[in-house]
Amino acid sequence: MSTGALGNVVTCGATYTEILPVHECFRSIQGEGHYQGKAAFFIRLAGCDVGCHWCDVKESWTVDASGYWSVQYLAEQAAASGAQIAVITGGEPLLYDLTFLTAQLKSRGLKTHLETSGSSPLSGEWDWICLSPKKFKPPLPTIFTQANELKMIIFNKSDFLWAEENAAKVTVSCKRFLQPEWSREKKMLAEIVHYIKDHPQWELSLQIHKYLGLP
Ligand code: SF4
Repeated sequence: MSTGALGNVVTCGATYTEILPVHECFRSIQGEGHYQGKAAFFIRLAGCDVGCHWCDVKESWTVDASGYWSVQYLAEQAAASGAQIAVITGGEPLLYDLTFLTAQLKSRGLKTHLETSGSSPLSGEWDWICLSPKKFKPPLPTIFTQANELKMIIFNKSDFLWAEENAAKVTVSCKRFLQPEWSREKKMLAEIVHYIKDHPQWELSLQIHKYLGLP
């Protein structure tokens, strides 16, 4: 489902949080982390100020003036998809106040899951927060204790130390995942498996949607 297919609904007089810039929405399975394999409706918001050089969704960085959608319409689309989980991702979704979006999703019975770098202030009401810190713009200190899941992207060996530095800031109950950066998967996967054997507090996350050719 593309932006064009869903249309663009902006209500005259709406406040900023009643409309959001959307890059794309689609129904798929969660390919990463604790909810890997679960069906979900994904809302990929547009805009990111983090700038990871290996980002695989660079096309989501730009906010298209024609891509603002009504939050109520977004929530209706999520509910109509039949999914039980709405995953809000980006881009960096916390560039925006997500209070109204999560309220609208919850009022329709959906669980709200967030995928964020944590580099902007947390807003919204969440059933699950996946924090994926990036060196290029590290998380704000307050989000660490809110995270249900810590997902560290491993691009090279120095990222294991970066992963441990972040893991020291989350709660004991927070799930810890190491995930190879997709373009480096063949090079780093064996290193990650070896690391997890020696550090069993970590789990392996693979982007299984990419192996399956899913969005
Ligand atoms: Fe890409 Fe996410 Fe990094 Fe933004 S935070 S540049 S969307 S990987």
